[in-house]
Amino acid sequence: MSRVYNFSAGPAMLPEAVLKRASEEMLDYNGTGESVMEMSHRSKEYQAIVDACEASLREIMNIPENYKVLFLQGGASSQFAMIPLNLMNGSGKADFVITGQWANKAYGEAKRYGECKVIASSKDKTFSYIPELNKADFTPDADYFHICLNNTIYGTKFSSLPDTGNVPLIADVSSCILSEPIDVTKFGLLYAGAQKNMGPAGLTVVIVREDLIGKARDITPTMFNYQIHAENGSMYNTPPTYGIYILGLVLSWIKEMGGLSAMKDLNERKAAVIYDFLDTSKMFKATVSGSDRSLMNIPFITGNDDLDSKFVKEAKAKGFINIKGHRSVGGMRASIYNAMPIEGCEKLVAFMKEFEANN
Ligand SMILES: *Cc1c(COP(=O)(O)O)cnc(C)c1O
Repeated sequence: MSRVYNFSAGPAMLPEAVLKRASEEMLDYNGTGESVMEMSHRSKEYQAIVDACEASLREIMNIPENYKVLFLQGGASSQFAMIPLNLMNGSGKADFVITGQWANKAYGEAKRYGECKVIASSKDKTFSYIPELNKADFTPDADYFHICLNNTIYGTKFSSLPDTGNVPLIADVSSCILSEPIDVTKFGLLYAGAQKNMGPAGLTVVIVREDLIGKARDITPTMFNYQIHAENGSMYNTPPTYGIYILGLVLSWIKEMGGLSAMKDLNERKAAVIYDFLDTSKMFKATVSGSDRSLMNIPFITGNDDLDSKFVKEAKAKGFINIKGHRSVGGMRASIYNAMPIEGCEKLVAFMKEFEANN
């Protein structure tokens, strides 16, 4: 068996140890004689899996007692509507920082429900930086302030958080959750689709401060109401059972790796392998510079479309797959989530050096 290095932005690589464990337990989970996929979500065996998963997430992320963890479906994209439906029920206003397509989608969806203000945008330079924020522009009575913490497509991340005072800060953390420690108390709500750094597609994790629950608009569909899911322990309907189980295994793996500070250290070393090469190469160049650089998604270009295509094709033949950049940026993008081993980054750079020498 030979496994490739998958640089996809998502769905992405999972730790090999997790996949092996899942395969060992595929036919008979823990002596139950059934697969987790076949289990009733109301069974005590399955309840133990969800409870352990939530406890691990709380421990690893240091989530305070006054926050609920919800295991939902619908992807991060459903949250773009769910957040305004649940939270935009005071002044009916919200602030947004437009740092890319996902942030813009969150803004576009929220605009259907209330008065949304763009505080800053980096669209002028293809979202290759995090814009400066001026606190005087913030809406003092906004129901929330939304950012996308790590911008998957453009490879930027916020290196400091806006000070929004009493206005709840909400962040899409789809592509950076579990990559480094995060101070949950700075946020009213965090959300993430699982398929980048947590598990398989189909599971969406929402971490929400309790006082923000129970304010949904009357028109909010039952399935879109945080209160319904919070009161039912994410079991109002059938949750994404297998995805939750895999997340539990991923969390155990992170614990064995030393938790989020160890993940951060490893992710910084991995990213440095690639950025250090990009900063010295005569052929390849990173599209983002300085402190705005993402640890998880690294876009780069040669400046020549034909050369980019040649690189992507030859890389694939060598087992470095899904390295083509997003269509809105072009070039290449290496997504190096937690499960990408450092050898994957080192081997990619060795191949880039070889390609540069030959071309
Ligand atoms: C992938 C991604 C999304 C979309 O996630 P879905 O689960 O496909 O809806 C949203 N935001 C960010 C930052 C992402 O990386």
